[in-house]
Amino acid sequence: MTLFSLAWYPPAETKISFTAIIKAALNSKANSFEEKLSNYLGVRGCVLGNNGRSLLATLLRELNKLEANKKKTEVLIPGYTCYTVAASIARAGLRIRAYDMDPKTLCPDMDSIKKNTGKKTLAIIHQHLFGIPSPVNSLKSIARDNGIYLVEDAAQALGGKLNGIPLGTTGDFGLYSFGRGKPLPLGSGGALVGNNINLLGKIRRNKPRLGIIDLVKTGATQVLSNPGVYGLMEALPLGLGSTVFDPGFKISSMPCLLKKLGQFSLDTLETLNTHRRKIAGIYSQVLRNDYLVSIPAQATPIFIRFPVIAGVHHIPGKLLRLGVRRMYPRAILDEPQIRPYLAEGNIGTPGASEIASTLVTLPTHMAISAKTAEVIATDVSEFLSL
Ligand SMILES: *Cc1c(COP(=O)(O)O)cnc(C)c1O
Repeated sequence: MTLFSLAWYPPAETKISFTAIIKAALNSKANSFEEKLSNYLGVRGCVLGNNGRSLLATLLRELNKLEANKKKTEVLIPGYTCYTVAASIARAGLRIRAYDMDPKTLCPDMDSIKKNTGKKTLAIIHQHLFGIPSPVNSLKSIARDNGIYLVEDAAQALGGKLNGIPLGTTGDFGLYSFGRGKPLPLGSGGALVGNNINLLGKIRRNKPRLGIIDLVKTGATQVLSNPGVYGLMEALPLGLGSTVFDPGFKISSMPCLLKKLGQFSLDTLETLNTHRRKIAGIYSQVLRNDYLVSIPAQATPIFIRFPVIAGVHHIPGKLLRLGVRRMYPRAILDEPQIRPYLAEGNIGTPGASEIASTLVTLPTHMAISAKTAEVIATDVSEFLSL
């Protein structure tokens, strides 16, 4: 461990091409991130915003308006997910209903989906947690048969595929995030995609600011995330992002310079994802099978983090220093701050609660070398077998 004793690994990916940062700052004309992203994903429409949560809130509000009697006031979401998803629903003035998940696969429990779907259901949100593809088809037919919109939350999954189809492009709408720790970490920003051009047009935002400070922050974060200096900087907010529930977020455009950064760095996404898969490969070789989440066949995961079903509550300092973290502290239904926004008659989500209390995640980002990954996996294995 002496080799690593000075290093302190940040939990989240912040790596973005430095050339792209320079290009974004200097190239005054280019601004076609929306178009580039649409082409990359093979969708007709794309709208950018200051983050993913604000786009989701605006989308849900527009969908609710489309329903003539407006009685569809509930949104069905994963029982274990980013708190911002719940915050978006609260912000749209709608009610949260949570479906259960299978702790072995992190996929929706279809029985729970059926039990929770009804006349009031406006939309179902499906997610690909950690960029691990989760089958969409059976959800899609439930949504279609009941006149419910299907939103694919691919905030953690840009570049992943299932049966050759890009994650986020099978539902009616797909959501992506460019925040810290996401597949393409521009610093902030989000995208909503789909083929319903009319509706996406209603969500499009005007008057983006330039965003010099945003770009400088994205550049500075890279330097500060270097394992050599990160130990001194633990106090900085470079963690895994928001685990506080806050529906009071800002709704605005994606800053111009971050859009350009997206345009110039989209080509490097595959490099990041290939590295993540390589590190994930090392973890799955070293760790015992019963600690691993199972991955569907025909899937190209991206693993923005590597989930381990560890069954522990406490992570020792040594592993924290290596970037091992728990993800969201509680299941959606177990979070007291979210309770006032829940739909009436939510049934329990025991699988999601189990995930919340047993899952830890290992870092896969560019600062983790193959050698570091082996050390992390070995340390985690030892810790788990204690
Ligand atoms: C990050 C994230 C979001 C929200 O994205 P922001 O850009 O941070 O608002 C939504 N869903 C999931 C699963 C996420 O990880």
